Amino acid sequence: MSTTEESAKLFADASSVIPGGVNSPVRAFNAVGGTPRFITSAKGCRLTDVDGNQYVDLVCSWGPMILGHAHPAVVEAVQRVAAHGLSFGAPTPSESELAREIIDRVAPVERVRLVNSGTEATMSAIRLARGFTGRAKIVKFSGCYHGHSDALLADAGSGVATLGLPSSPGVTGAAAADTLVLPYNNVAAVEEIFARFGDEIACVITEASPGNMGTVPPLPGFNAALRRITAAHGALLIVDEVMTGFRVSRSGWYGLDPVDADLFTFGKVMSGGLPAAAFGGTAEVMGRLAPLGPVYQAGTLSGNPVAMAAGLATLRAADDAAYAKLDANADRLVGLIGDALTEAGVTHQIPRAGNMFSVFFGGDPVTDFASAKATETWRFPAFFHALLDAGIYPPPSAYEAWFVSTALDDEAFDQIADALPGAARAAAQATA
Ligand SMILES: *Cc1c(COP(=O)(O)O)cnc(C)c1O
Repeated sequence: MSTTEESAKLFADASSVIPGGVNSPVRAFNAVGGTPRFITSAKGCRLTDVDGNQYVDLVCSWGPMILGHAHPAVVEAVQRVAAHGLSFGAPTPSESELAREIIDRVAPVERVRLVNSGTEATMSAIRLARGFTGRAKIVKFSGCYHGHSDALLADAGSGVATLGLPSSPGVTGAAAADTLVLPYNNVAAVEEIFARFGDEIACVITEASPGNMGTVPPLPGFNAALRRITAAHGALLIVDEVMTGFRVSRSGWYGLDPVDADLFTFGKVMSGGLPAAAFGGTAEVMGRLAPLGPVYQAGTLSGNPVAMAAGLATLRAADDAAYAKLDANADRLVGLIGDALTEAGVTHQIPRAGNMFSVFFGGDPVTDFASAKATETWRFPAFFHALLDAGIYPPPSAYEAWFVSTALDDEAFDQIADALPGAARAAAQATA
């Protein structure tokens, strides 16, 4: 059992100045209970907390840290650039370098606009799709997360196609009314909504491969069907690669399932752990953005040179060998988890999307948010805490993806292998 005295003190202190003590809700450990660990440093695949505990990191800052923490090339680039000034409010050379790096990796992307977060990227892509088509309605899928802008938080959550009900107080009915929410992986539901509202729908937005209801990959042909249906009705397709982009392959999910969307959104890996994100697409659609066109979008810190340096250094180190290593590490980790759960007699499934995966307890196949919620998520807290106590840091919710880095070493895998049998027994003994 690790000591968490200092983390507990800091959490109490944080809670007196920050709502819930955190700046992003999942960090509060609400889904698993216990004390959120306050991290003071990280190197390679390991995190160190304020009590001096070390953890093998299987969250990787929710994806970005594919090379592990404090990678020398990334730290060097950030330090070198920072010494020359932090922000100019004027164009800098590295913005086009990062844009070009993205364009070179994702074929349908001809132009890129840099922003500060994934939320901004999807919000701006939606505005652009509406501005381009002159239509108001958008289609999203239940369980897909696209950041926290009003229109995209709308989610009936019941698994039933619904005319956008706001899912958070503060999101007005008006903001959500034009958001049509459909069950994921259901082509018939998409056909139906287009049959009804086809000439009012500006776009469909989908996670390239969802990772925010847990990892729930698209069924074969699902993204291609979205392309076909949107094109037939003059609507745009927005593929949200904020999580999968430059993580699951050199070209993101597009590299595994090449569907030519009109717009793509990126974040997480592309900025190597600093706040930057992007949206991009065809020159025709992106040409409607200000200052070329009338669709307004801007940002004081957009294209920030330090964030550009972190992103460029990360992507330049993320070569074919790095992706092979990420896949091998995911295979090894999934193998260990699966074996331990089988050994402990826990029915489970570990859906994969390249090197991303999730652990669902129970046997009914997960294909959408409703089936994800029907799993035995009550086993997850016990599984999580047994691992955390053994110095392994998995995502603190069953509805999240697990993330590997290239920095996982044999010692880390030994530690994981030693911890898993106890964690699997804890999952087996958990009660609803
Ligand atoms: C993380 C994420 C976002 C939001 O990005 P932020 O940088 O947290 O605003 C949007 N879409 C997907 C698919 C994500 O995983």
